[in-house]
Amino acid sequence: MAEAGINQAQNSPAPEAQQTTDGFHLVIDALKLNDIDTIFGLVGIPITDLARLAQAEGMRFIGFRHEQNAGNAAAVAGFMTKKPGICLTVSAPGFLNGLTALANATTNCFPMILISGSSEREIVDLQQGDYEEMDQLNAAKPYAKAAYRVLHAEDIGIGVARAIRAAVSGRPGGVYLDLPAKLLAQTLDAVRARQSLVKVIDAAPRQIPAPDSVKRALDVLKGAKRPLILLGKGAAYAQADAQIRALVEKTGIPYLPMSMAKGLLPDTHEQSASAARSFVLAEADVVLLIGARLNWLLSHGKGKTWGAANGPKQFVQIDIAPTEIDSNVAIEAPVIGDIGSCVEALLEGIGEHFPQPGAEWLEAVADRKNKNLAKMAATLDKSPTPMNFHSALRAIRDVLKTRPDINVVNEGANTLDYARSIIDMYEPRKRFDSGTWGIMGIGMGFAIGAAVTSGTQVVAIEGDSAFGFSGMELETICRYNLPVCTIVFNNNGVYRGTDVNMGGGADTAPTAFVKNARYDRMMEAFGGIGHQASTPEELTAALLEAIASGKPTLINAVIDEAAGTESGRLTNLNPQSAAMKK
Ligand code: ADP
Repeated sequence: MAEAGINQAQNSPAPEAQQTTDGFHLVIDALKLNDIDTIFGLVGIPITDLARLAQAEGMRFIGFRHEQNAGNAAAVAGFMTKKPGICLTVSAPGFLNGLTALANATTNCFPMILISGSSEREIVDLQQGDYEEMDQLNAAKPYAKAAYRVLHAEDIGIGVARAIRAAVSGRPGGVYLDLPAKLLAQTLDAVRARQSLVKVIDAAPRQIPAPDSVKRALDVLKGAKRPLILLGKGAAYAQADAQIRALVEKTGIPYLPMSMAKGLLPDTHEQSASAARSFVLAEADVVLLIGARLNWLLSHGKGKTWGAANGPKQFVQIDIAPTEIDSNVAIEAPVIGDIGSCVEALLEGIGEHFPQPGAEWLEAVADRKNKNLAKMAATLDKSPTPMNFHSALRAIRDVLKTRPDINVVNEGANTLDYARSIIDMYEPRKRFDSGTWGIMGIGMGFAIGAAVTSGTQVVAIEGDSAFGFSGMELETICRYNLPVCTIVFNNNGVYRGTDVNMGGGADTAPTAFVKNARYDRMMEAFGGIGHQASTPEELTAALLEAIASGKPTLINAVIDEAAGTESGRLTNLNPQSAAMKK
């Protein structure tokens, strides 16, 4: 099957001259018609020619070393642009490798389309043992917002249109599109083929909130004594930056950004309550959620974190998905619609005057914030030898402060926890991290996706364990000469490098890595630039050089191997470890 495809592409018949076209061309034409210009993927049977043709027809094809990373790149492109990112894989194993990224995209509400070649239906359905045989459509369904298969070339236009609309309309998510090898080689009359293509009109229509829901929300907010606004990554995705800023500033309400909403307003904004997070969550009486879910990242909206002892809170929630409402706690005032329209409606309802929060509340928040900032400044000012998470992050923070346009990718346990609070963000949609699942392995995929999509500098702040999942993509970064500087926080292990084998055997502890590994030399192997940094000064110098050159760079930041706590801040999710240490 693949052979037939290759011949077709190599002869590359100009479809018009020949009056026929084929499935390969139609897929590319359908994507291009919908302004999709980039495919992230990994070639092989039966989609190699699809990638070749995409390039031949002026699309960008970014080839990866593992499909999960290609999928993550596509997902982050979707988050940044509100257009579905495309990931292309081969059948069965390649598809499954991409499926983790698809599931992660769906969980995070990022629009992406995983397009995989597949084996012939007749053989798969009779389980006759085809090359890379798998019922991919059904495997994808539980992990995708929608999943479609196209069997006839004349349906490719509709299939791609459905996939695009499903990915970006309503709550965005991951879509699977199954393309059997036979479909790609099918030929079709060129005129009929052209007519079968669909340009998707208004793929993510505005969803205007009901006026009574807006009034209810405003009534609840007006009755608040200690109000709080919580911005989630849905708010960042919505690209309603000006309206959100206007709402925050007009109401005067302190706000908290979730990690990927950082920068929607600059973290240095005086209404930011990030440095008083625990305090405001526990003390607020009314919370306005904008594109944020009350999941584990927010302690499900209840318990000690939310000051259960202070009595129940009232929640106003803006979301595009009605089923999100009351998912964890009762929501007093749901406002269903797209965030831009909902926030605009609230602003309109507010008019010129909105009762500003009481001075007592604002002073209490400012007080706590200043105390915590002073405490953090003292910790950051220390320069221990060897370097620890804080002193390394201080160095990075000070450089990034001068370049608010830089995209930041961040994953790890301690590296994620500390960086999230220490590295300020100043512009929207510049921070990409482990997200809703707290997933490890997004690093290089997100970094490549962000660099390709924005064409600007990326700094990836990576725990050494997290980096390992996608480290081979350094080759991809070098191949495309991307402006990505990866900083590996190397403390010789998962969490830290000092654990020992509790059985006393020769094997290392489950959490330990090779000591003093030189990740920078991996980068050099592919022609990139490697640095070893053992002090904050060396780290600063290396990062400045990387940014000035825009060249693929990896900085091996040597961190105290005894620094780092088990599971970072998630020790409560890892109860066994405490028990074992007794
Ligand atoms: P965070 O992890 O930052 O709290 P979540 O991913 O949990 O953010 O929540 C994002 C929420 O935003 C989801 O419930 C999703 O339905 C919602 N959402 C995404 N895009 C939009 C949009 N354009 N308009 C309204 N809500 C949106």
